[in-house]
Amino acid sequence: MLRNRVPGLRRFYLLSLVTGGVAAAVFVPPSRSERESAAGSLLSLEPPLRQAFMDHGEFQAKKEPGGLDWLATHEEPGQTFNEYLGSRPNVPNAGRGKLYILPIGGFEKGIAPDLAKLKDYTAAYYHPMPVEMLPVLADAEVPAKGRINGMSGKKQWKSTDLLRWLPGKLPKDGYAMIAVTMTDLYPDENWNFVFGQASTRNRVGVFSFARYHPAWTGGVGDAGTEALVLRRAAKVLTHEMGHMFGIRHCIYYECNMNGANHLVEADSTPMHLCPVCLRKLHHAIRFDPLGRYAGLGKFYRANEMNQEEAWVADRVRKCQVIPDP
Ligand SMILES: [Zn+2]
Ligand SMILES: [Zn+2]
Repeated sequence: MLRNRVPGLRRFYLLSLVTGGVAAAVFVPPSRSERESAAGSLLSLEPPLRQAFMDHGEFQAKKEPGGLDWLATHEEPGQTFNEYLGSRPNVPNAGRGKLYILPIGGFEKGIAPDLAKLKDYTAAYYHPMPVEMLPVLADAEVPAKGRINGMSGKKQWKSTDLLRWLPGKLPKDGYAMIAVTMTDLYPDENWNFVFGQASTRNRVGVFSFARYHPAWTGGVGDAGTEALVLRRAAKVLTHEMGHMFGIRHCIYYECNMNGANHLVEADSTPMHLCPVCLRKLHHAIRFDPLGRYAGLGKFYRANEMNQEEAWVADRVRKCQVIPDP
């Protein structure tokens, strides 16, 4: 019903959908040949690209979902590389080639993710597209209906109001813009909350990081909390930007483009793109794969994201070894 009121609207991470929803058909993890054929034929590609869109053993097949996980509750058809091409996706052009992040309201140090780091990560992820952080908008400038959530006792904005307003804020040279806020969101009076919403047609979205820190539920952080909050925010921002290029949820591998129903599931998905989604992104923005990984590796190293740094180093090594014909 929400979808009918805002054309092109996509909803993500709607927790209450799970409890009220109907179980989807059983998801069968894809075989190796299904995963390989989802990436499309690599025969006509130059060796560096062919290597980048191959799985040399560094990727994991999409796992069977648990009871409340995304694929247990949503029928996802998947989207092969050829289906992606056939969908004639939106891609950037010379006049409309920038990604924007629009922060709204306060971002309290220690609770909120570091905006400068989020910008750097988005720029490395979507290399070579320019990424710009717009000046922070004050809460008072947001023309959205608000309420106090009965369960949390905290303020929320109606995300559909934000989605109607955001297209007017997208700069002329903007390909897409994601607004981020520490204010909690709700999509409709019947919903408890939503992590975010986006309109792929209008190429705008809004995401809240309010629930990413344990302080939301009265907890306290520890030495790993800052990194956890940054990882969660970085993942959702880059996942959402991926939808803006027409990339649908991934069902082939454990991948940043997997759908996620709840924070535990979102935390378990990797930050990287699988070969299928990487090839789609390459179609849209034509990056040099090793140059892109160099930027990501640098970010992970600077932020002590050791697991991700090691994954990127391994991936680069494997992409550089050209197997015998
Ligand atoms: Zn999504
Ligand atoms: Zn993928």
